[in-house]
Amino acid sequence: MFNLMVTLITLLFTVACGVTFIINRQLTAAGWISLTFFFGLLALIFDQNRALLAPYGLEILAEAAFLFSCCCLVQTYFSRFQGKPNLKLMGMIFFAGLAIISAVDTLAWRYIVMDLVAAIIYLYGGHIIGSHRKILTVNLLFWFNVAVVMVSVLRPMILIFDIAPPSWNSSLVFYEAMLYLTATTLGVVGTNIIFVAIGSDLIKQHQTAARVDLLTGLLNRRGMADIFQEVESDGDPSRHSGRAILLFDIDHFKHVNDEFGHDVGDTVLANIGGTVTQLMQYHGRAARSGGEEFMILFNAESSPAAFLVAEHLRVAISLLKHDGMPGDRRVTASFGLAFIRPGEPAKRFVRRADVALYAAKDAGRNRLRLADGDSLPDIDESVTPFLPKQRRAG
Ligand code: GH3
Ligand code: MG
Ligand code: MG
Repeated sequence: MFNLMVTLITLLFTVACGVTFIINRQLTAAGWISLTFFFGLLALIFDQNRALLAPYGLEILAEAAFLFSCCCLVQTYFSRFQGKPNLKLMGMIFFAGLAIISAVDTLAWRYIVMDLVAAIIYLYGGHIIGSHRKILTVNLLFWFNVAVVMVSVLRPMILIFDIAPPSWNSSLVFYEAMLYLTATTLGVVGTNIIFVAIGSDLIKQHQTAARVDLLTGLLNRRGMADIFQEVESDGDPSRHSGRAILLFDIDHFKHVNDEFGHDVGDTVLANIGGTVTQLMQYHGRAARSGGEEFMILFNAESSPAAFLVAEHLRVAISLLKHDGMPGDRRVTASFGLAFIRPGEPAKRFVRRADVALYAAKDAGRNRLRLADGDSLPDIDESVTPFLPKQRRAG
């Protein structure tokens, strides 16, 4: 009666795990963890009903389901940390483990071998997680995995050393009770940790996605606002003074749309985004701050050369060819550059760069203008160039 109840309850959970997997369908980390517990629970059901399976020679199903569940757990780690499962490797480990287990006759030794093979599989899982432990949830996962390895190594000791506390009939009965206790406890704890880890990954992905402009791949307005806030809330304003802020706006973009269509306009924006990413990757952070307006905050190291870099960008953009536009028609942009003053709020330095940009538009477009009152910083030429040894001595 008790056995039947345990089987029914386990069956219920098993079905729930199976349904979760079917709903998730893709074999992402969440899919693999559903499969892990589906097969883990299936193993418990098969184990409970060995007497029914034995006449058909199907007892091995219990160990097979158990080992398969171990492999699925490691596939969860593979999917989470390496982007895809490793079907070949885990398939080989699964069949090799199963072959070893089926070569053993007594139930006690089957359990022992099953646990030790599982320990090896989990140990391999720990190796995958090990290098990502800086993240809190991953660290939790790591210690969960350590616990699973320890349980898999310690549990078979009950059988090896024939340990049976006074109230238990035999070490085998005691072992089975421990198998159920540890499997269900670790199952519940592990699922929770893994789902929290997956959830926090998703939140992080969404937070990053919310700051990126899809068309150009640059930051969006919100992404740039976060960076400005960092600049403003820094306790040491001198760290940011002298950094360059560059604004640019595509020239006559409305006409590009009118003449070639909105899709070609989008292609132009994407191409310019690609050029900005390439040229600016070492110089600062770039954003698409509006429809056809862009903004770049230079690093401190690149700021002294900001005017030259901005000129390079201006020329590079003006030379781009765009699909859907005749080869001799080019798109240009006008640029405004300003240097941040000590403690200056973002609103003000952006405004100054914007005024410079409109001066560039007024002067005829496709040009770069420096904000009023700003002067170009000296590019440091005082560093002694490298000299060969003998000349230095002489
Ligand atoms: P100016 O040289 O003075 O900057 O002229 P302009 O035509 O570039 O400026 P205006 O502000 O009049 O027009 C900007 C145009 O940019 C209008 C709008 O249709 C277009 N635009 C804004 N966002 C997008 C977009 O995502 N895709 C496309 N294709 N066009 C966009
Ligand atoms: Mg504009
Ligand atoms: Mg424009």
